[in-house]
Amino acid sequence: MCGIVGYIGPREAYPIIIEGLKRLEYRGYDSAGIALFDGTDLKVCKTKGKVVDLENKLHTDITSTGNIGIGHTRWATHGVPNDVNSHPHYSNSGDLVIIHNGIIENYESLRKELISRGYHFDSDTDTEVLVNLIEDVKNKENVKLGQAVQIALNQVVGAYAIAVFDKTRPKEIVIARLGSPLAIGVGKDEFFIASDASPFLEYTKDAIYLEDEEMAIIRLNKDIKVRKIKDDSSVVPYVQTLKMNLDQIEKGGFEHFMLKEIYEQPKAIIDTYRGRLNRQEAIIKMGSVEDNMKKFLNADRIIIVACGTSWHAGLVAEYIFEDLARIPVEVEYASEFRYRNPIITEKDVVIAISQSGETADTLAAIKLAKSKGAFVFGVCNVVGSSIARETDAGAYTHAGPEIGVASTKAFTTQITVLSLIALRLARAKGTISSSDFRHHLLELEMIPKKVEKVLEANEHIKHIAEIYKDVHNFLYLGRGYNFPVALEGALKLKEISYIHAEGYPAAEMKHGPIALIDENMPIVVIATKKGHYEKVVSNIQEIKSRKGKIIGIVTEGDVDVRELADHVIEVPETLESLSPLLTTIPLQLLSYHIAVLLGKNVDQPRNLAKSVTVE
Ligand code: GLU
Repeated sequence: MCGIVGYIGPREAYPIIIEGLKRLEYRGYDSAGIALFDGTDLKVCKTKGKVVDLENKLHTDITSTGNIGIGHTRWATHGVPNDVNSHPHYSNSGDLVIIHNGIIENYESLRKELISRGYHFDSDTDTEVLVNLIEDVKNKENVKLGQAVQIALNQVVGAYAIAVFDKTRPKEIVIARLGSPLAIGVGKDEFFIASDASPFLEYTKDAIYLEDEEMAIIRLNKDIKVRKIKDDSSVVPYVQTLKMNLDQIEKGGFEHFMLKEIYEQPKAIIDTYRGRLNRQEAIIKMGSVEDNMKKFLNADRIIIVACGTSWHAGLVAEYIFEDLARIPVEVEYASEFRYRNPIITEKDVVIAISQSGETADTLAAIKLAKSKGAFVFGVCNVVGSSIARETDAGAYTHAGPEIGVASTKAFTTQITVLSLIALRLARAKGTISSSDFRHHLLELEMIPKKVEKVLEANEHIKHIAEIYKDVHNFLYLGRGYNFPVALEGALKLKEISYIHAEGYPAAEMKHGPIALIDENMPIVVIATKKGHYEKVVSNIQEIKSRKGKIIGIVTEGDVDVRELADHVIEVPETLESLSPLLTTIPLQLLSYHIAVLLGKNVDQPRNLAKSVTVE
């Protein structure tokens, strides 16, 4: 995920692009760059850091500006955030520059092919491969930029929003999208390009939103030409008049970042398994796991270290790894692990999980594990973060930036990545049959659609939130794979609504918490089919006998729990090991709505910080 801005018209491009990038910084902020054409020269300036760092650098690097340019604020997926990996990227001839949002999945094979034909690469990015592929097509086929982009994109697998400029045709910008957003602001004799409309709202409210698999050639003082990438057929662009304000656009029309991020989960999960899960060939491809397969397979055990929501993802992973790959797993709070003189040997594999990759306690736990000779594998969301650098190997979640302090899409994408690793190891160890493996891949691929289905219950969940918003205590119960989901549900509610909540394994209720139950106590019970269903139904009976109020998270079509519960929220059926990816969604929405109804600041709850870089 990143921010893209472009301008072509009579105004100075520089201030429009810089201000636009600042508005898009919520989409990524690890580096920024700009390319400007002043009528004679094409100048590129880029830097690690935020848009203000780019601004400071620009004052010394570029003196003249121009009326055409493109700019980018990056959220790294391939290559650490540094100056060289920042966008825009030049082609080898220096004629073309590109900015890109997304992932080119087959960049490695394209890169090898281009190297064999004499191309060289300065950065580690997939993007630099794409711009050189476009240049290669342009030269080989002797075509103009637009056609070269169209032909090149037909060789690309992955997701992208791109803007490309060719200094030999300096009155046009070519853009294209597949899977990442791109809008064109249509002004009088001028055009704006942006990942969302916020950079151009003050100049024009007329916008064209490019559809997937469409590209556009935007020329100075000419009509926009929109074409289909696949067959080059032309499309009549639909110009709509926007009625939104700035804030609404940055949040994608959602009231809060948290809600936006909850709704982004289907896409975030796809982005996380994209290029790794190949159902047709029935394989999981993860370079860092392949390269270290021996370490994983020879491990006596896996120790997972994490904090907060990531620790809950680790608990889900414990069930998955033990169940599928038959490897013993221990899950540790990083803060406890680091201070309790744990027994770690060279035969241990330590998996450290953290959204930001900067969590201080997790980092300390990694250092400790490394000092004892364990192999340490990181799972984090932020490319080039401290944890990504400190670990021996790792796998990124590709959730995109998470702005809301209460973690949502980080949790589900962590479970996605950990499921892929467990499945890959299970296959290598032979602890899963080939048909079960295929079934898991199929079900995992269906999860995003099923998450969308759960999200349709939003209004119903809001209604439940209205009923219970004024209570002082909540209980969350689940068993097996859904016990960690109960913990996560309780944590979400505490974090943003400040209502006291506890998560418990359903069967543990009898050993204490049952004393709390009376007619005022709402109890969220995750009671999906397969997950020890009958046992959970008995637990619900026990609660009902004590007049507790039941909110059941059930499988579609459930009858038994519906009869007993005060409210039910349905989720589609899936494999038990994947069910946390669905059952967690209603709990996120429930806590969100309760917090909003109570007037709390959901994106910045009191006393909390997004990335806990202190002990
Ligand atoms: N894959 C590209 C990179 O890592 C683009 C990432 C983005 O969307 O910012 O540079």
